[in-house]
Amino acid sequence: MGGATRFAPAPTGHLHLGHVANAIFVWGLARASGRDVVLRIEDHDRQRSRPAFERDLLEDLAWLGFVADRGPFRQSDDWTVYEAAVDRLRGDGLVYACDCTRSTFGEWAAQHGRPWTGAGCPGDCRERHVSGRRGVGLRVALGPGDETWHDLLRGPQHDAPSRDGDLLVRDRLGNWTYPLCVVVDDLRHDIDLVVRGEDLLDATARQIRLGRLLGREQPAAFAHHPLIRKPGGVKLSKADRDTSVRELRGQGRSAASLIGEAAAAVGLIPEPVPIEAVAVADLVTDR
Ligand SMILES: [Zn+2]
Repeated sequence: MGGATRFAPAPTGHLHLGHVANAIFVWGLARASGRDVVLRIEDHDRQRSRPAFERDLLEDLAWLGFVADRGPFRQSDDWTVYEAAVDRLRGDGLVYACDCTRSTFGEWAAQHGRPWTGAGCPGDCRERHVSGRRGVGLRVALGPGDETWHDLLRGPQHDAPSRDGDLLVRDRLGNWTYPLCVVVDDLRHDIDLVVRGEDLLDATARQIRLGRLLGREQPAAFAHHPLIRKPGGVKLSKADRDTSVRELRGQGRSAASLIGEAAAAVGLIPEPVPIEAVAVADLVTDR
């Protein structure tokens, strides 16, 4: 049927078993639906991204046996695409400077006895016409109403795009933010299926809305899969060396055994038995 999905790691640490689980779903759903896999290096965070991590993650991915059809593309290859997207939104009168800080949110929460939610931002920056000087963030007014979508793994969903306020598209340090970059990249790379962990379910409505504001007529399909949790329910992070692909390789583990462990941890197979990357498509089917 054509179309594409993407595997999009950030070069801010090494791949861990959580990435392996994501790769199983990405490649599995791509193969099951006849889509390409685009490899995207999400290095929008210029303070934390490292070329050495990128080199290692490309090498680990190849060792695991996950081969992309297109890429790798890097967000740092061309910053002007994000600037152009924000210019377009600015032309529609939707972009405003915001000088809210962590303490603006904290003060609001202290006064009202709950965390800040709703459209706009707690400092009413759009109404105050904050000047867009250096060190100030940029937000996009997302507008009212809900977005609804069908999640391939979780069924029908709906959510309010501005539940957590208007979207920050450039941070105070001048970085284009993750939600802006992914929405622009998904549009320019013709991504029509987004496969990612369920921790990003909350971000979906605002990303669909931002895509619409940028002229996307048909939103991508979404599939939010279970995450590997540590005992106690905490999700894995790059700081957990015991689940790092690089560490486990160093201990003599095979690629097939890591894929089997990750697949079992998210319930795709009952026991952690070795399985090759090329066989993962059979594990994943949409609903
Ligand atoms: Zn503000």
